[in-house]
Amino acid sequence: NLAWQGRATSLSATLRTMLELGNCYLQIAKIHRIQGTRPFSLSAAARAILGLGGWGDDGGKKQLTLQDVAKLIRKKECRRIVVMAGAGISTPSGIPDFRSPGSGLYSNLEQYDIPYPEAIFELTYFFVNPKPFFTLAKELYPGNYRPNYAHYFLRLLHDKGLLLRLYTQNIDGLERAAGIPPDRMVEAHGTFATATCTVCRRKFPGEDFRGDVMADKVPHCRVCTGIVKPDIVFFGEELPQRFFLHLTDFPMADLLFVIGTSLEVEPFASLAGAVRSSVPRVLINRDLVGPFAWQQRYNDIAQLGDVVGGVKKLVELLDWNEEMQALIQKEKEKVGKK
Ligand SMILES: [Zn+2]
Repeated sequence: NLAWQGRATSLSATLRTMLELGNCYLQIAKIHRIQGTRPFSLSAAARAILGLGGWGDDGGKKQLTLQDVAKLIRKKECRRIVVMAGAGISTPSGIPDFRSPGSGLYSNLEQYDIPYPEAIFELTYFFVNPKPFFTLAKELYPGNYRPNYAHYFLRLLHDKGLLLRLYTQNIDGLERAAGIPPDRMVEAHGTFATATCTVCRRKFPGEDFRGDVMADKVPHCRVCTGIVKPDIVFFGEELPQRFFLHLTDFPMADLLFVIGTSLEVEPFASLAGAVRSSVPRVLINRDLVGPFAWQQRYNDIAQLGDVVGGVKKLVELLDWNEEMQALIQKEKEKVGKK
C-alpha cells in the first residue's frame, strides 16, 4: 500500500524531527553561529598538502586516545565536563523508533488524521486539536521507560563532581529519571516534568496532570480552565532560558563528550565548536558526525559504533566498573520499591 507507506515515511520523519526538534532554532543558530565552522571539508591528504594539519597532525601534537582522556579524568585534570546528548542515548531504553510504522505510538497517532506531521508541534494546531500531542505525552510521560547504562554513566560523572552541565536534546526525561539534578542540565527541547497554562501562564508540576494524560484527557488549568501544555518546545517557541547557560559553560569546559547525537539540529549542533581549542572532544556515536567529520582537531576522539558499547569501553578505561554496577543496582532497587 504505497499511499500509506508514503504517509508513514513523512509522519515518521517528522516524529523523529520532533524528538530532535530543530527548525525553529535556525534563526537563533544564525545569531549564535560559532566562529570558525566551515560547511565543507578537506580530505586528509589535501589538508596535509596544504599544511593545515588534521586528525593526529596538528602542529606536531600527538593525537589523543580514549585512554588518554580516561587518564585525564582519573587524575582530575578534567573536571568541568560538558556533555551533549541526543536520541542515541535513549534508543537502548526502548524509546519508540518512530521511523518504523507499526510501533504502538505510530498507530495511536495515525487515528487522528493529522493534516501534516509537523502540526503535532505547532501551537496553532495544538489549540484546534491537542489530542495528538497528548498521545505522545502519554507515551513519554515520566515512568514508562527506564534509563540505561549511558544515562547512569552521566549520573556517575555528576556524583563524582565532574559534570559541569549536560545538554540534552531528548524530551523523554530519562536523564532526570537517572538522578541527574535538573540544575545540572539544559533540556534544550523542553521537558514533561513541568507544564504551563496556555492562558494564565501559571506553572505546574507535570505530575499534577499524570491522571488526565493517562486517561486520554486534555489537562485544564484549575485556576482559569485554560489548556495546560507540558513545557516541550514547539516550533516557533523560544528555547528555554537555561539554554543560554552555554555562553558560560562551553568556554569553561575542560572536556566535551558528544554522545548519541547526529549534531544536525541547530543551534545545538554548533555548541560542539564552542569549547576552547585546547579542550579534548570525545564523540561516542554510531557514525562520525558534525565537526568530528569535517573539522577535526588533534585532540578529537571518535569512539564509533554502539553507544552503550562505547560508554562501557570508557568506563572500563576509567576503572569505574564496580561503581557503575553498584549505582545501577541501587537505582534498580529504588524502582522495585516504588
Ligand atoms: Zn490558567
